[in-house]
Amino acid sequence: MRSPERTYSLKTKLSLHIAFVALLTVALIGVLSNVFIRRRFEDYIIQQQQQRAADILLRVEQQYDPASRAWDVGFLHAIGMYALRDGYILKVYDGRGEMLWDAEACDMASCMQIIEEVSQKMRTWEPSVEGTFAAKDFPLTSEGQVIGKLSISHFAPYFLSENDVLFLDALNAVFVGCGLFALALAVALGRILARNVSVPVGKAADVAKRMSAGDCAARIEDGSNIRELNELTLAVNHLARSICAQESLRKQLTADVAHELRTPLTTIGTHIEAMVEGVWAPTRERLASCYEEIVRIGRLVLDLESLARVESGNLKLDKTRVALREEAEKTLRNFETEIRASGLQASVVGDCRDVWVDRNRMQQVLTNLLSNAVKYTPSGGTIRVVLSETDDAILVVVEDDGIGIAQEDLPFVFERFYRAEKSRSRGAGGSGIGLAIVRSIVAAHGGRVEARSAPRRGSRFCVELPKPEA
Ligand code: ADP
Repeated sequence: MRSPERTYSLKTKLSLHIAFVALLTVALIGVLSNVFIRRRFEDYIIQQQQQRAADILLRVEQQYDPASRAWDVGFLHAIGMYALRDGYILKVYDGRGEMLWDAEACDMASCMQIIEEVSQKMRTWEPSVEGTFAAKDFPLTSEGQVIGKLSISHFAPYFLSENDVLFLDALNAVFVGCGLFALALAVALGRILARNVSVPVGKAADVAKRMSAGDCAARIEDGSNIRELNELTLAVNHLARSICAQESLRKQLTADVAHELRTPLTTIGTHIEAMVEGVWAPTRERLASCYEEIVRIGRLVLDLESLARVESGNLKLDKTRVALREEAEKTLRNFETEIRASGLQASVVGDCRDVWVDRNRMQQVLTNLLSNAVKYTPSGGTIRVVLSETDDAILVVVEDDGIGIAQEDLPFVFERFYRAEKSRSRGAGGSGIGLAIVRSIVAAHGGRVEARSAPRRGSRFCVELPKPEA
């Protein structure tokens, strides 16, 4: 693996990313909503100004008296001056086109000041709006007759009043405030989230480091409420436990192998030493006893080899279609001599559909189970291999009515080198590995094996294999 030149803590990375995303989101929302709201606001202002122009027009028309065909110029002046204050420069003409009232003629100075003020403010507030004062003419009517013309001049396309600008400023302030608040909140929550993620990951890394330094007792104590992290924690703890178990199995195995080899080697050693020194005559029986011990060592080595192969984890199963009843009968025939010698009754009963298994391995399972049944059933006893099916499994049961296994030994009989009533099993030639091999092979086929037994009432080993598709 190539390590990057520079690394950052998960917390820093997560916090920075969250802050960046929050900043981007807030900026985007701020800009977009500002643009849209401003556009709507400009439309609204333009509409308001059109409405205001329509109001002025109506008010001006109301100053015409159709009966006397005369205008109330005093009121026109009031309307005009009032409109001027709001930025509207009016000119009113009568039907003949003669000027009735003109804001510029009336108060040129105020008009210039208004034009200058509005233009100046708009240049400051809305520099993007390239506007100017423009006049628009409206016909004045009374009872369907044109009675004159009104010219309204104002800063177009629109202009803002002080209140409008205050409103826009308040809006911007709200956007900026909300943005900053959201950003602060996002950063704070981001830091909490980053902490929630980085602490368990850091602990997992720590435990992994301690494990690699040989401390397999290291564990992560607290779980996380984030599912994936909790799974990581459980997986690391599980890994630590299985490394511990593997480690103690490894130590145990070495101790067991040493112990298993020591007894026959000592026996052979002392026997041969005595014969070499002339203490014992090398009789047939003594040599036969040494030979037996050598055979025992050979068997142990063979058993260990098969166990190592089966437990290596990369056990390759060469699966074929197998009729279990045939295999059981064949295996039983291999024990014919021992069965006859011990006066045992042995049979295969029941049947089941064909299964997809590794024939040789399955034969080994049957051989180990039958060999135990033969070994631990006194003469005159009965051994049965019973085949059957349940809804989702194929069952192969090897049962005998032999010496049985004590309850305290039963949970351990599948462990390597475990022998119930050690001296008795050793006498029967067992090394305590047969059932461990059975368990590993059955597990490799996706099945399981369990034992039931009672002392002097026999034993029953049930292998459960997954049922193949019909
Ligand atoms: P071994 O080679 O010693 O038989 P196994 O792993 O096959 O080793 O069996 C473990 C122990 O379980 C045996 O030592 C024996 O005490 C007990 N055992 C296994 N099968 C039987 C059985 N059918 N009847 C009584 N005891 C049994």
